[in-house]
Amino acid sequence: MNTVEIQEIKELLKTPKKIVIIPHKNPDGDAIGSTLGLRHYLTSLGHNSSVISPNDYPDFLKWIPGEDTIIKYDSATDIATTRIKEADLIFTLDFNNLSRVGNMETLLTTTKSLFIMIDHHQQPDDYARYTYSDTAMSSTCQMVYHFIDMLGDRDKISPEIATCLYVGIMTDTGSFRFRSTTHITHRVVADLIESGADNTTIHEKIYDTNTYSRLQLQGVALKNLKILPEYKTAYITLSQEELDTHNFKKGDTEGLVNLGLSVSGIIFAAIFIENRGEKIIKISLRSKGDFSVNEFSRNHFEGGGHHNAAGGKSNLSLQKTVEKFISILPSYKNALNL
Ligand code: 5GP
Ligand code: MN
Repeated sequence: MNTVEIQEIKELLKTPKKIVIIPHKNPDGDAIGSTLGLRHYLTSLGHNSSVISPNDYPDFLKWIPGEDTIIKYDSATDIATTRIKEADLIFTLDFNNLSRVGNMETLLTTTKSLFIMIDHHQQPDDYARYTYSDTAMSSTCQMVYHFIDMLGDRDKISPEIATCLYVGIMTDTGSFRFRSTTHITHRVVADLIESGADNTTIHEKIYDTNTYSRLQLQGVALKNLKILPEYKTAYITLSQEELDTHNFKKGDTEGLVNLGLSVSGIIFAAIFIENRGEKIIKISLRSKGDFSVNEFSRNHFEGGGHHNAAGGKSNLSLQKTVEKFISILPSYKNALNL
């Protein structure tokens, strides 16, 4: 984002505006943290802003400051639609393609409001008047920090804002270990702690939330883990029956794909999760090093994301999806054997 654009946005924010802030469907810690962090900031400037999420999110995010003000489009469609239609400004955070908002897509493509995108995924679409896109960033939360900083308001980072932004940086970096974690990320995090983010408590609230049934479901995932050594690949399946038996709730499968990637020598991991309600298999992909799961997902599973973390979906059965996945691997044999 160049200085002219920052000046223009600063100008826009000088008078009270009606603002809507939107995360992607099935929002994660970064999506919820960044939208709420930005909302607290915009509220402190005197704007009337709301976070409108396409749908619900996991319970382990339901303590983040301001979380109780989030409007869910799928269960409060009328109020969400009115807010979006009346908005002067719409921020879209942690995604870069309007198909990522599910059923809200038509409404967003037809609204006349001015859009600002803040996002760190690859290949951004061109729907926003202002696009702050940086694929090297650890998280959208880190970008919201830089955005506030560029507007000259670092001193306005309250304990609430700091807490929200810390959540997304922590979750999107796998607790500060992925390659996207830089010395600047650590400086930002240090500043957030100084501004009132209680790092140990945040970690406990996000990660120490297992239930017995969720741990049992992890056991099933580990039992279903398959290794394909010739492709340095691991994959996990979870059927709808397995989810139902273990009282599956949103968020229970978060991070399971990393179990495959933690096997020594594995550089590509996948998880296939059946969702009979939506008649799809939801896919999460992770890699280490040069192998791009963003490209893999775009080419074969209608998805995308980052170089080392991406997602997608399949309309085939669980078994057929796995067969398709395995049948594709030979064409990546060289890329996977680096
Ligand atoms: P996860 O596997 O944790 O759901 O997602 C990994 C990354 O890929 C996240 O940054 C997420 O936003 C992105 N992602 C997940 N599913 C999809 C998808 O269906 N389409 C696209 N374009 N990105 C996705
Ligand atoms: Mn993110």
